[in-house]
Amino acid sequence: MANIVIFGPPGAGKGTQADKLVNEFRLFKVSTGDLLREEIKKKSELGNKIKSIIDKGMLVQDNITNDLIEKVLSNKKYFNSLIFDGYPRNLNQAKNLDELIKKYKQKLSCVLSLKVEPDIVVKRILGRQICSKCGSIFNVFFSPSNSQNHACDPSFLQKRSDDNEVTVKSRFQTYIKETLPILKYYQNQKLLYEIDGMRDISIIYKEIRGIIQPLEA
Ligand code: AMP
Repeated sequence: MANIVIFGPPGAGKGTQADKLVNEFRLFKVSTGDLLREEIKKKSELGNKIKSIIDKGMLVQDNITNDLIEKVLSNKKYFNSLIFDGYPRNLNQAKNLDELIKKYKQKLSCVLSLKVEPDIVVKRILGRQICSKCGSIFNVFFSPSNSQNHACDPSFLQKRSDDNEVTVKSRFQTYIKETLPILKYYQNQKLLYEIDGMRDISIIYKEIRGIIQPLEA
């Protein structure tokens, strides 16, 4: 096994696909967005600062996310079995990830890039619901929670505070300006796999499995 980066605009389905991989393979998801939201829940001074950045749709400082990633990557329990969701988000973070992977004698097997058109991204984000009990992700338009696919009470379903029409626009701008240039960096390293993220969750997942299985063999 080796580490995997799952890449794409906000609302591309990175978390959903990463969760499916975690359920099937011996892999662990690390989402910097989730880790930052954990800090916000503590209502610490740092958490409050992070919240104001996230609610503006901007990127949290690199030193904060880089430290979060080093803590996870240096843990032997996750050796060569991490899926990075939402990290790296700019070139500096991508270079930092390379250095950390080298430092802890690990490998990056591939970067899976989910391509989704902007209008679909907005609809996916505005419809997104997350279960605060089990962490499952649903969408009121595309994949609603029901008694067959979700055991928890519907009252646990929550919306993220940054999943609103105003913040979505600036998150997408941030993505185009700061995150998208990373693709070239990984293309040059021959690690990039581009995937049409507009299709059904299960069809996208099938393609992802087809990419990963030979790499992991
Ligand atoms: P996500 O859950 O990945 O959609 O991230 C939600 C928000 O958290 C982003 O819009 C950023 O404000 C912040 N964030 C998450 N990951 C990073 C990162 N790697 N670098 C900087 N900010 C991040």
